[in-house]
Amino acid sequence: MLYNQVQDLKGTIRVYCRVRPFLQGQTNGQSTVDYIGENGNIMIVNPLKQGKDARKVFSFNKVFGPTVSQEQIYVDTQPLVRSVLDGFNVCIFAYGQTGSGKTYTMSGPDLTTKQTWGVNYRALSDLFQISKERADFVKYEVGVQMIEIYNEQLYNFIESGIRFTLTTHTLDIRNNSQLNGLNVPDASWVPVSSTQDVLELMRTGQKNRAVGATALNERSSRSHSVLTIHVYGKELVSGSILKGCLHLVDLAGSERVDKSEAVGDRLKEAQHINKSLSALGDVISALAQKSAHIPYRNSKLTQVLQDSLGGHAKTLMFVHISPEVNSIGETVSTLKFAERVA
Ligand code: ADP
Ligand code: MG
Repeated sequence: MLYNQVQDLKGTIRVYCRVRPFLQGQTNGQSTVDYIGENGNIMIVNPLKQGKDARKVFSFNKVFGPTVSQEQIYVDTQPLVRSVLDGFNVCIFAYGQTGSGKTYTMSGPDLTTKQTWGVNYRALSDLFQISKERADFVKYEVGVQMIEIYNEQLYNFIESGIRFTLTTHTLDIRNNSQLNGLNVPDASWVPVSSTQDVLELMRTGQKNRAVGATALNERSSRSHSVLTIHVYGKELVSGSILKGCLHLVDLAGSERVDKSEAVGDRLKEAQHINKSLSALGDVISALAQKSAHIPYRNSKLTQVLQDSLGGHAKTLMFVHISPEVNSIGETVSTLKFAERVA
């Protein structure tokens, strides 16, 4: 059953929209989300407009309202994650303006509370769980890699398996024969065999990152972070090999920076983000339209993910919106971006 669902998704692009709740202290705010239908429709109301122009309906595969739990989100993500163990390549993206809930969906608000874990930890713990269940038939090995793409440069996040650092040197994308000839960043791979391993890795990382937190937090919203989980499985009887890859991507904030205000580094960052997000949109919409030419080479992000976008790979885009009235401009442009790739 599950497997059939996964087969149906092959080569297709799914788009899920998630609406962030009002944050504490803002509960009485006016929401720009007028209506969420069960069929994947969402109606947005623009308080700055009058009459029929004020309301617009957008359609996606699913829409998750502000009360939907992390667990419920994962239920609809799980079939894609599990297909990695059958040898598929999968990309899951979080798109949206800064503050709309991308990191919440992918990682969760903190590591300590299992209940609010995001897709990353749930996916890893699920992969370990299933590989344990299949242990009599398939021997799996799992490795993780974490990179950041900032200003069109690649940086390593995990170093020597224990430290989570932003190295100052940039990385190249190399063809890796051990990884099925995939083009992957030349960054460290860390073997992991339990959720505990991963949590420890992330915890150490967060501790290391906490040094100079302000600069890094700010930077995190202006860089793409790519957690890659590589699965290598050997069927015990036939000896055949399965290789699958899961990319979990927390994208840079999609907000447009006012060109008249941004100068220097800020303007450069904004231009790089703009360029890479539109390159991603172009690739996904070219794939959706089954176009003959897929423009992977226009950004580092699409180059890194090339082998996992298109072909037999599966893509899921979570688009996030903030409900506040002052976000209406970004909300509409996020939903338009999402409709273009759907
Ligand atoms: P982004 O990564 O897009 O910049 P965050 O994930 O950091 O946004 O979310 C911004 C704030 O909103 C954080 O305090 C986060 O905990 C909170 N938040 C986001 N989504 C939700 C949600 N679905 N439920 C509760 N709080 C959320
Ligand atoms: Mg974030």
